[in-house]
Amino acid sequence: LLMNFSTNLLRCTCISSLRNVMPAWVIDRYGKNEVLRFTKNAALPIIQYPNEVTVKVHAAGLNPIDISMRGGYGAATMAMKRDPLNMKQSGSEFPLILGRDVSGEIMECGLDVNYFKPGDQVWAAIPPWKQGSLAEFVVLSANEVSHKPKSLRHVEAASIPYVAATAWSAIVNTGGLNKDNSSKKRVLVLGGSGGVGTLAIQMVKAWGVHVTVTCSQNAEQLVRDLGADDVVDYTAGPVENKLQTLQKFDLILDNIGGESEKWALDLLKPWNGAKYVTLVTPFLHNTDLLGLADGMMQSGVTIGCKVLKHLRKGVHYRWGFFAPSGPTLDEISEMVDAGKVRPVVEEVFSFAQVPQGFQKVEQGHARGKTVVSII
Ligand code: NDP
Repeated sequence: LLMNFSTNLLRCTCISSLRNVMPAWVIDRYGKNEVLRFTKNAALPIIQYPNEVTVKVHAAGLNPIDISMRGGYGAATMAMKRDPLNMKQSGSEFPLILGRDVSGEIMECGLDVNYFKPGDQVWAAIPPWKQGSLAEFVVLSANEVSHKPKSLRHVEAASIPYVAATAWSAIVNTGGLNKDNSSKKRVLVLGGSGGVGTLAIQMVKAWGVHVTVTCSQNAEQLVRDLGADDVVDYTAGPVENKLQTLQKFDLILDNIGGESEKWALDLLKPWNGAKYVTLVTPFLHNTDLLGLADGMMQSGVTIGCKVLKHLRKGVHYRWGFFAPSGPTLDEISEMVDAGKVRPVVEEVFSFAQVPQGFQKVEQGHARGKTVVSII
């Protein structure tokens, strides 16, 4: 019955009429790296809505959130997003497939999908409540998918979507900068050498921004090559002392969090609309700890207090979040093909080496991105 239903929604050969399993890395419980399990018999994902597409995964990107989710981070919020009315019989997210970046090929399109056709080369950042890309296939809403840059191979393309969608959401949607209003603005990227940082530097640089970056000394050349104008080595003493000697900023993107909140907002131009956007927020931690309702209330109180406290000094405090978006990736794709943004791939692992890929990301000190080549 499911097969017939699925076939009626599709415009092309239905993979699920040929077989109903696929190879994937799954987890059956939360924990350390040993919970990662390879199987040839993961359930084949099927299109359930007419706006969905099936993508054959060629390469998948790894991000710190994969490490966190492997340990159960965000489980409460993700469960609500997967099953808002709590109607599913199983009540379990397992077996869960991680991996938030995909570059691959469209295999099937739902009947309402006009922008894509089978065979299109695409990329996407996968929302954390959906099954991920460490598998042969992934099903996504068409509005989460975009045509991949023609100039990139799949392993290069898979390094970009999640960090690009995050940087875009934080800088454009939350921070208020875009290609038309950024020229000569001053942006500070705290933590420029990792996945989000290396993408954010290039994005704002392409819009004419003056970019200051903090990173370790041995990442200075990398961030300068990506367009950083000023670089401050955070390992050489309190980074805020050096930053205070520089001109003030219009936007700060904080990829580090923690103590930096205490001094970073003093570096903003006051009464000028300047914003501090941090990606390190307690939002999911609060819902994990306190449950959905209390966790969200706690987050609301925390952000409300911080916004008000800083508003009195004429600067804006914000939390930034990853936001999946095909149209955003269309814009990034153009920037890549125009040579304004390039992938920064630190290491590529084979599909058999997924646990080593997780180990690499978990060790920290990223210099760009870690990618898994699936085929
Ligand atoms: P990465 O692990 O790829 O990069 C972090 C980088 O920061 C590394 O290069 C690290 O190198 C460097 N670093 C560490 N400590 C400092 C410091 N004190 N000052 C400057 N640089 C430092 O992470 P991502 O770029 O992918 O993500 C950044 C943060 O944003 C993470 O905490 C992630 O969880 C969060 N995030 C949040 C999202 C959201 O929706 N809110 C979405 C995506 C990411 P080294 O240690 O060698 O200096």
